[in-house]
Amino acid sequence: MTANGSAPSPLRVAIIGSGPSGFYAAEALQKQDAAVEIDMFDRLPTPFGLVRGGVAPDHQKIKSVTRIYDRIASHPGFRFLGNVTIGEDLTRDELRRHYNAIIYAVGAPADRSLGVPGELLAGSHAATEFVGWYNGHPDYRDRTFDLSQESVVVVGMGNVAIDVARVLARTVDELVKTDIAPHALEALRESKVRDIYMLGRRGPAQAAFTNPEIKELGELIGADIVVSPAELELDEHTLKYLAETEEREAEKNLRTLEHLATIPRSGKPRRIHVRFFVSPLELHGSGRVERVLLGKNRLVPGTNADLRAEATGETEMLSAGLVFRSVGYLGVGVPGVPFDSRSGIMPNTAGRVLSPSGAPSVGEYAVGWIKRGPSGVIGTNKPDAVETVEALLEDAGAGRLPVVVEAGRAGIHRLLAERGTRVVSFDDWRALDALERSLGAAAGRPRLKFTRIAEMLGALGPGRSQGVGGTHHP
Ligand code: NAP
Repeated sequence: MTANGSAPSPLRVAIIGSGPSGFYAAEALQKQDAAVEIDMFDRLPTPFGLVRGGVAPDHQKIKSVTRIYDRIASHPGFRFLGNVTIGEDLTRDELRRHYNAIIYAVGAPADRSLGVPGELLAGSHAATEFVGWYNGHPDYRDRTFDLSQESVVVVGMGNVAIDVARVLARTVDELVKTDIAPHALEALRESKVRDIYMLGRRGPAQAAFTNPEIKELGELIGADIVVSPAELELDEHTLKYLAETEEREAEKNLRTLEHLATIPRSGKPRRIHVRFFVSPLELHGSGRVERVLLGKNRLVPGTNADLRAEATGETEMLSAGLVFRSVGYLGVGVPGVPFDSRSGIMPNTAGRVLSPSGAPSVGEYAVGWIKRGPSGVIGTNKPDAVETVEALLEDAGAGRLPVVVEAGRAGIHRLLAERGTRVVSFDDWRALDALERSLGAAAGRPRLKFTRIAEMLGALGPGRSQGVGGTHHP
């Protein structure tokens, strides 16, 4: 079979990962003229990646983006194969024999560490674990967090740090209206958390959060926000940067923070303290974290146009029984596929994965966080995916894609059936989705999530067509 994209021999593309970047890659393929068959794989039985497992439960509106993904999944020629792990259930070489092109949309599931003494003490966690836990991600279902602590530190000034601080600060009445996982709701119901300290190593103009997110922190029912005017004072380097840059987010954030600093505390049960120019130097405690030693920073010009934090030598001790490091996600490689573990991405140019020699690894592409690193919002993945698909189509047009040597979809079915993999189709997912929503409706909540893979598969029952779910695309 050739990869000419004509109707009798459509272009066969595997997309690995069903988060936003994977779906936008599928959409870009569907929007071009050539005939294309798309098989989208995910290691979980549920699609949508971080929209289900990352977006905060109190941001339900953002989750409605899945309606677009539902439309993409309804397109003829699209098939979802959930509960299939590449590298375990199927190898990269098997994929290469069955598809003309593979698009990796595997995101960045790990986290960066701080590299400070005491980071491994009990009570010190990656924010990504907490996010996965409250969102019911099966990998984090059984994590525990000591919410009997009154003082919590969140290291980082990005949108994930804000999500964590906000979820900790929400009242149970607010959380019950969301799709937060039932186990997390029950644990947060008993929370004794009073003070949440967000720590930024640089200044307010360098904060990574976006403006609506910081504004929202000032509007919480159950928590006051505490910002020190002294920490909003700008140094000469920042003033120069602000005068020269066309970028407006920092200016907007400064105005918001200045406003928040004027709001007097109103005695709400919780407080979110937004602190700048501080880095955790050490986590202290006997057996578990009890205190964090903070070093104060000033800004100095970095190697590029940016300003970096430099220690002043001054320190401060902060009591905290729970610490979340929220200093960025990190990509993880797929067995056999080129990967740069330092940057956490698949080396690529315009989405073409590069082999160690620097030449393109023929027929392999990357989109989303595994392509560019963990940055941007959901919509950033759309132009990112379009760029990659343009490269793929250019390669297809130039006859550079590998020829498929194995029988089409039936071959993949057969391999997975032989291995006893219970493939979850998009119809199966629709059934699970309906079940979660109806369980939620009975409890007065948007949905009650299944949080264990065995529960999801149990609810679906055995697969059709020799373990391969899905009826409309043979
Ligand atoms: P992020 O935006 O890259 O923020 C990481 C933060 O960690 C920065 O403040 C960074 O400070 C800090 N940091 C890094 N290394 C540090 C260290 N060693 N010590 C102290 N601080 C350190 O990452 P994120 O918050 O994980 O978010 C990932 C992406 O998802 C972002 O693009 C974000 O906008 C997006 N997201 C969006 C939403 C939303 O739209 N509501 C929600 C969640 C996530 P420096 O700047 O000094 O490096």
